Amino acid sequence: MADDRLVTPQIKSEESALEQALRPKSLGDFIGQHRVREQIDVLLTAARHRNSPADHILLSGPPGLGKTTLALILASEMQAPIRITSGPAITHAGDLAAILSSLVEGEILFLDEIHRLPRPAEELLYLAMEDFRVDVIVGKGPGATSIPLQLPHFTLVGATTRAGLLPSPLRDRFGFTAHLDFYNEGEIAHVISRSSELLKISIDKDAVVEVAGRSRGTPRIANRLLRRVRDFAQVQGRAQISIHDAKAALEMYEVDQLGLDRLDRAVLVALVERFNGGPVGLSTLAIAVGEEIETVESVAEPFLVRNGFMARTPRGRVATAQGWRHIGRTPPAEIATLFDLPASDA
Ligand code: ADP
Repeated sequence: MADDRLVTPQIKSEESALEQALRPKSLGDFIGQHRVREQIDVLLTAARHRNSPADHILLSGPPGLGKTTLALILASEMQAPIRITSGPAITHAGDLAAILSSLVEGEILFLDEIHRLPRPAEELLYLAMEDFRVDVIVGKGPGATSIPLQLPHFTLVGATTRAGLLPSPLRDRFGFTAHLDFYNEGEIAHVISRSSELLKISIDKDAVVEVAGRSRGTPRIANRLLRRVRDFAQVQGRAQISIHDAKAALEMYEVDQLGLDRLDRAVLVALVERFNGGPVGLSTLAIAVGEEIETVESVAEPFLVRNGFMARTPRGRVATAQGWRHIGRTPPAEIATLFDLPASDA
């Protein structure tokens, strides 16, 4: 159900080819994340000077912010081949051993969702990362022997949306951890302008800003909204997308000015109208909006909390004053003073 949403930061199945076309190919082309870019630049330059593969790198941050893009850029900047796999795709330690032993010197192994790697595979990875070795177990029972297998020097690029879930022995084996954060509106506008040039979409500057404001600081969502706005304008027979087209399109798709969609608003409305602003437990809230708990917890809640519409308290979820106002309701005075800075900000 969550996958139906226009503002989900997860990739949709039909999007991978579209995303491929829009991915920046070099570090210089990668918009925003200045600190991370600078750090990676130093790391790569040093590795090139030493003429050796770069240290293992962990990329952490919410989905859709550019972790896969950065891994591909790393490979192209190092002129190294890259192998792409993910934690859930590796069901046995043997799968990982097979991948590792087929790598070539200097190759980059991109392991997406590394926090979902099964435990035995994770343990095998420790030795591989540290000593470039795997121990292959031959045979079963008391007669089983372990044969050490030397691996080529490779660079592991791990990506995770949940760095906190990684056990510290794994986290500690990365030479460098880059944390990607949400993009500001100017950076997202830049992403949209760049994509519209690549897709040959003519769009006014203020329309770009309008789409950027609704993109939740996430390039993947920005690119998706741009495509939907383009479709809308095309059907209307427009050669150039104006701010009116952008607004009308996003209203039709029910993505509001701050990037909230129908589910986000339904959660806020339920919280305020049915539970008088809370506190209310997540499962009760999910039932009230007719959604799975998982969807509310992983999709709507993080965005609403991060943007100050909702807060988590030990007694349950509560709507903040901004949450009340966003759905056109005046917050009770105690809420305004509890959760917002000046109540007169309204
Ligand atoms: P993640 O792996 O973190 O989920 P991706 O690397 O797949 O995210 O990025 C999603 C899409 O967003 C890509 O198609 C890419 O075009 C775009 N994108 C991400 N980061 C940037 C950036 N810094 N500049 C331009 N486009 C970006």
